[in-house]
Amino acid sequence: MLYDLVSCPHRVAMDLFANPSERDAPNPFIQLLWEKGSLFENQVIEGLEVPFTDLSLEAGDEKERLTLEAMQRGDFLIYSGRIQAAGLLGDPDLLRREGDGYLAGDIKSGSGEEGPEDHSRPKKHYAVQLALYTDILERKGLSAGRRAFVWDINGEEVVYDFEELQGKRNPRTLWQDYQACLGEAKSIVDQASKTLAAYSSVCKLCHWYTACTSRLVNADDLTLIPQLGRTNRDTLMNRFPTILSLAESDPANFVVGKKTAFPGIGPATLEKFHARAQLITAGDQAKPYLREPITLPGAELELFFDIEVDPMRDVCYLHGFIERHHRNNETERFVAFFADEPTAEAERQAFEEAWCYLRERQSCVMYYYSKYERTIYRKLREKYPDVCTEEELEALFDPQRSVDLYYDVVLKATEWPTRDFSIKTLASYLGFAWRDPHPSGAASIEWFHRWVETGDATIRQRILDYNEDDCRATRVLRDGIDGLALKPR
Ligand code: SF4
Repeated sequence: MLYDLVSCPHRVAMDLFANPSERDAPNPFIQLLWEKGSLFENQVIEGLEVPFTDLSLEAGDEKERLTLEAMQRGDFLIYSGRIQAAGLLGDPDLLRREGDGYLAGDIKSGSGEEGPEDHSRPKKHYAVQLALYTDILERKGLSAGRRAFVWDINGEEVVYDFEELQGKRNPRTLWQDYQACLGEAKSIVDQASKTLAAYSSVCKLCHWYTACTSRLVNADDLTLIPQLGRTNRDTLMNRFPTILSLAESDPANFVVGKKTAFPGIGPATLEKFHARAQLITAGDQAKPYLREPITLPGAELELFFDIEVDPMRDVCYLHGFIERHHRNNETERFVAFFADEPTAEAERQAFEEAWCYLRERQSCVMYYYSKYERTIYRKLREKYPDVCTEEELEALFDPQRSVDLYYDVVLKATEWPTRDFSIKTLASYLGFAWRDPHPSGAASIEWFHRWVETGDATIRQRILDYNEDDCRATRVLRDGIDGLALKPR
């Protein structure tokens, strides 16, 4: 419950109180994550070289009784226990004795921390789970301290210290975050507070997607304005309960000096959301536009680039390019470099082949959508430094020859009458249709998993077709942006 609450409090309320018949069918990618999680946990446990108490075949009250017994005996390591105190219930994967008490741990088939390597930090959704176990241990007088650990996909033990301040810009402890989440969860369970759906990127993988989006559309909810989000909606909604009411307002009436009447929302941001609300409510008249003039670089050869990555296996398995000459769509050709196996050798080979392809096309202009491609290429270069130098890689992504259509163009200079700015949404708006009925990056990862398991060539082709369409969608968007007019002043 706490894990879900971190990404969406409404999800907790829906899971507890909504009509289950409104749930969407389980998402295959989420199912795959669960399967991979259990598989990884089994592998870790099978590989343990220390004796441990295994309670994985027990359930319910009996599991809880045996967990307590094992801790009272002082067993060193307890796998799959169950602990409970003061209405709090936890199923820690591990309980490890330290001195007179126990520390809780979870086995995670993801990295134990997030963010860039030099600034990695604990994951909040892991932290709240682990803090709950620690809280229960404390209440039972069995805690060895306000710490816990994650055994992660990289074979690392990552320590979560709940009393450490998270940083200068966030002088709070994880324990304080946990207390806040616990208070919010209790209030939802007791129905003392009401949650509201809020449209965000996490909705697309949630089993309440259909139910929530239909309610949001009926309510003309502000979170259907791109990038507005739950926090801003909650701040604005007393004054602007709908998109239409925001569109019909005059934002100047709410500006006081350099601030607005809404905490955390400056005049420029309010103006931006107001303009988006006007565009969304313009009906048939709604047309995307440029906020400022932009010039996209011209070149005889253009490449539209997209990669596919399996984050669970940490493998980049596909580099896809649509190449086009003289801006003539008749000349389009799809070129792909595929890692047929989820191994370092196959990944390296696909990266090297893609790199050779790019090196032979030095004079092209390359388009991609978001910083992801550049981030993954930097990681691949560090992993396989013999393929190319850092200078060569940075030259490839030099803004003179590479354009991040998302950050440098769409976000910086355009407006669209859509609820988000994903490539799927914008290219679809421009009339492009993916051949696959369920196109998504998450689906592609699930297909890759099935391709690896089965070797079924039709699945491999499905992945390639999906990637080709993503590349082509980037081209459609690039041309669509060319046709946008400046907003009349
Ligand atoms: S669809 Fe979105 S708003 Fe609704 S419960 Fe899921 S994550 Fe929350």
